[in-house]
Amino acid sequence: MKKLEQVYEGKAKKVFKTDDPEKFIVDYKDDATAFNGLKKGTIQGKGVINNRVTNHMMKMLESHGIPTHYVEEISDRETVVKKVQIVPLEVIVRNIAAGSLSKRLGLPEGTKMKSTVLEFCYKDDELGDPMVNEYHIYAMGLATPEEVKTISDYALKINAIMTDYLKDLGIELIDFKLEFGRLSDGTIVLADEISPDTCRFWDSKTGEKLDKDRFRRDLGNVEGAYHEIMKRLLGE
Ligand code: UDP
Repeated sequence: MKKLEQVYEGKAKKVFKTDDPEKFIVDYKDDATAFNGLKKGTIQGKGVINNRVTNHMMKMLESHGIPTHYVEEISDRETVVKKVQIVPLEVIVRNIAAGSLSKRLGLPEGTKMKSTVLEFCYKDDELGDPMVNEYHIYAMGLATPEEVKTISDYALKINAIMTDYLKDLGIELIDFKLEFGRLSDGTIVLADEISPDTCRFWDSKTGEKLDKDRFRRDLGNVEGAYHEIMKRLLGE
């Protein structure tokens, strides 16, 4: 498959056209940002790790019946994906209070939620990705009620699958962010990435943070934590 012109460059990835109109190539960068782009840096080797970890997770989820945009890993940093129109929502799933939820509701980090929390944020950097509810989503035409139902069902199922899978690897899944896309026929599939950039992973035994919070909060050994996640998932 031929890599043609770039169609998009985000904070952590570039996306290229290919000679197949229904497929794109994603290229993962080492660039890291936090706090809506205010904090910038580089995490050496992050692109390779996030590419490989994401693909591993996508394949695992596919094997459990979740449709994804994943097609084929073609290099350490590059993956062929199905072309989708991204639904402009960040879908956040939370098992344990952390980050913005802790702040907003005054729940100490680490508080176990009595039931899973599902949140939607409107993907808009200028607005700082504000949280929205279903009324906002329909009033703004961001997605249909049927799509929101599909996305919510998938998000909760993904949470159950990932929580179980990671538990066996000694990783506690605190919270994570998903994005979904529409194929050209309208089918909703899981898109974007699932990586230490987009999930909070805590070591089950020690509680050590193995995710982007090490970068956000200057905790040190950021590369080591990303590496540890790849090692536990892929064995290397
Ligand atoms: N998250 C993300 N991208 C965002 C915002 C959040 O991947 O733009 C992830 C984040 O890594 C965490 C979860 O979503 O796993 C919940 O994040 P939170 O709302 O607590 O925001 P944060 O504290 O990261 O600003």
